[in-house]
Amino acid sequence: MSKQYITYNQIHKLCAESANKILSSDFTPDVILAIGGGGYIPARILRTFLKVPIKSVSLELYDDITDKMGDSNVLIVDEVDDTRSTLYTCVEKVLESKPKKVGAFVLYNKLKNKHKGNHWDNEKAEKDHVNVDHYLVGAEVDDVWLVYPWEALDIDEHNSKAQ
Ligand code: 5GP
Repeated sequence: MSKQYITYNQIHKLCAESANKILSSDFTPDVILAIGGGGYIPARILRTFLKVPIKSVSLELYDDITDKMGDSNVLIVDEVDDTRSTLYTCVEKVLESKPKKVGAFVLYNKLKNKHKGNHWDNEKAEKDHVNVDHYLVGAEVDDVWLVYPWEALDIDEHNSKAQ
C-alpha cells in the first residue's frame, strides 16, 4: 500500500477550512467529542475556530460518555474514516444519550466501501438508525496509508517525505 505523509500545516489548514464550513452550516456544535488518539490534535485545532469545549473518548471507554451528551449538538472528531467501524461505533454510543444533533468530522475519508454506515454520504439514511445529521470531511483520499506528523520520530524527515 502506498504511503501519504501529512504535515501539521496541511492538517491545520484542513481544520480551518472545515471549521468555516461548519460555521456557515445549520449545525452549530456545542461540544467537540475527540476520539483518541488520532482525533485529539484535529479537535484541538478545530476548537481554535469553533470555540466550544472538547471532551474525549477512547474506544474502551465509550460508556463514560453515553450519559453526558444529551441536549447538545455533538461534533465527533477523528483523523480518518477508513472502514468507518470506529466512527460508527462512536456515533451509535453517542446516539444512546439522545443528543440534539450529531455531526461527524474526519480529516481524511478513504474512498472505499465502508463496513457500516455507507448511507452517511448518500441518501439511504432510513435503512439504519445509526445516522449523523452532518458528515464533514477535510479531504477525500484513495485507499492509501496515511502517515501523520504526530507519529514521526524525526519531524524534519517526515516533512521532507511529505513534499
Ligand atoms: P476505521 O477502519 O475504524 O475507520 O479506522 C480505525 C483506525 O485505524 C483509525 O482511527 C486509525 O487509528 C487507524 N487507521 C486507519 N487508516 C489509517 C491510516 O491510513 N494511517 C494511520 N496512521 N492510521 C490509520
